[in-house]
Amino acid sequence: MTDKTTIAAISTPMGTGGVGIIRISGENSMEITDKIFKAFSGKALADSEGYRAHYGRIFDGENAVDEAICLVFRAPHSYTGENVVEINCHGGIFLTKKILRLVLSNGASPAAPGEFTKRAFLNGKMDLSKAEGVMSLISAQGEQGANAAYNLLEGSLSRKIEEINSSLLSVAAHMAAWVDYPDDEIEEIDDTNLRNTVQTAFTEINTLLDRFDSGMAVTAGVDAAIVGKPNVGKSTLMNLLTGYDRSIVTAVEGTTRDVVEETVNLNGCILRLSDTAGMRETGDIVEKIGVDRSRKKLERAAVIFAVFDLSRELSDEDNELIEMCKGKTVIPIINKTDLDRKADISVIENNLGKCVAISAKDGDGYDELCDTVATLIGTKDFDTSAAMLVNERQRLCCENALQSLQEALDAIDFGLTLDAIGVCIDGAISALLELTGQKASEAVVDEVFRQFCVGK
Ligand code: GDP
Repeated sequence: MTDKTTIAAISTPMGTGGVGIIRISGENSMEITDKIFKAFSGKALADSEGYRAHYGRIFDGENAVDEAICLVFRAPHSYTGENVVEINCHGGIFLTKKILRLVLSNGASPAAPGEFTKRAFLNGKMDLSKAEGVMSLISAQGEQGANAAYNLLEGSLSRKIEEINSSLLSVAAHMAAWVDYPDDEIEEIDDTNLRNTVQTAFTEINTLLDRFDSGMAVTAGVDAAIVGKPNVGKSTLMNLLTGYDRSIVTAVEGTTRDVVEETVNLNGCILRLSDTAGMRETGDIVEKIGVDRSRKKLERAAVIFAVFDLSRELSDEDNELIEMCKGKTVIPIINKTDLDRKADISVIENNLGKCVAISAKDGDGYDELCDTVATLIGTKDFDTSAAMLVNERQRLCCENALQSLQEALDAIDFGLTLDAIGVCIDGAISALLELTGQKASEAVVDEVFRQFCVGK
C-alpha cells in the first residue's frame, strides 16, 4: 500500500545552524529535485545511482539560492524504502523554508508528522515498535534513555515479541490441526508442554510489564513534585537538583506562589520536577491558588519529594502533609542537617518510610537522595539492552495479551476443550501482533505516527 505521492519536509530543527536538511521521499524525488538543483558535474540526479552525493547549486528560476549537497538513495535501499533525496543546504530558517517551498512548488507534497517513518513501516522497513524506538531516541534526554531507545530501534522488543509469538503460534497451529483434522495422524498435544509454553509466554510478558515504569523513567521521564510547608527548603532543593537557581529562595514564607517546573536527569532517571507553593492555610488569594495547585500536583505526581525541616519541631502542617502522602510513592526528605536537630522524625518514618537526610543548602546527602530515587523508580542498574515497553499503547497490548494468557492457563487448569484454550491463545497472539503493527488497524498506525514531528 505504498503511497504514490512524493513528500518533502525540513528534517533538521527550525533554527540557525551549519547545515539544514530537506528530505524528499517518493517515486519522483530525483526528478523533482532536478528541477531546482544543478550538480557541478552536470549529472542529473535522475541518472544517479543510489548512495551517491552530488555537489551543486539550488536555483529559484535563474537565480542561484545556495550551494548544496544532494544525497541520493534508490528504493528500496533508503530510510523509507522509496526513492529519497536529502538536500543538505546551509542551515538558516529562511533558507531551508525557501528551498522546501521550491521543492513543493515543483511537485512534492508536504509531509505529515512522522510520514517518512510511517512509509518506512508501510514498506516493511521496520515494525511499529521499532518506529516507536525512533521516536524515543529523538526525544531521549539521558544516556540510559538513549541506549534503551537505540536497542528498541535495533529490535530488542520486536525480537522478544516475535520469540513469544512464534512459540504461541506453533502450539496454536498444532491445536487447530488436532481439532480440525481428528482423523489425521496428528500427534496428540501434551498438556504439560502446552501449559509450559503458555506459562513461559505469560512470565515473559509479565517481565516486560514490570519494567514498564522504570523504562518510562529512563526514556520519557516521570512526574515528581516537591511538596512541604513554607520555608522547609523546597526551592533550595529544586535548585540543587536542577543545578542552577531555578526557583527563588528567600527566608520569607510564601515566596514560591506558583508551580515551577524543570526536567532534570538524576543519574539516568528523568524527572519532570515541580517545585510547589508551600502548603499552608492562607488568606492571600494568589498564594491560595498556588497552594491548591500544589495539592493537585501532589495528587498526580508519580513520585513525591515530601520535605520537612529538621531544625524545627514538626507542626500541624507537617502532620497534614504526612497524611496526604500516605499510600503514595513518596521519598520523605529531612532538610537542613547542617543546623541543630529539633524535629522528631519517627512520626515521618513510621508513616512514610525511611527519611533521606540532606542539607539542600550545602548539597550534603545529594548522592544518597539520587540513589534512593533510582532504587524507588527502578532505574538503578536498569538493563537498557533488554526489551522494554516505551508507551501506553505497547503496555496496553501486553496487558491484553497477559489477560488472554491468564484465561488460557485457567482453561487448561479447568480441563476445558482444546478449542476453548485455542481461542484464548489466539487472543494473546492478536494482541502481540497489534504491538508490532502486523495486525494494527489503520487508526492505530495513524495515531502512532501523529505523535512524531514533521520531517521524521
Ligand atoms: P521553601 O519555601 O520550602 O521553598 O524554602 P526555601 O528553599 O525558599 O528556603 C527557605 C529558607 O531556608 C531560606 O532562607 C534558605 O536559605 C533556607 N534553607 C534551605 N535549605 C537549607 C539548608 O539545607 N540549610 C540551611 N541552614 N538553610 C536552608
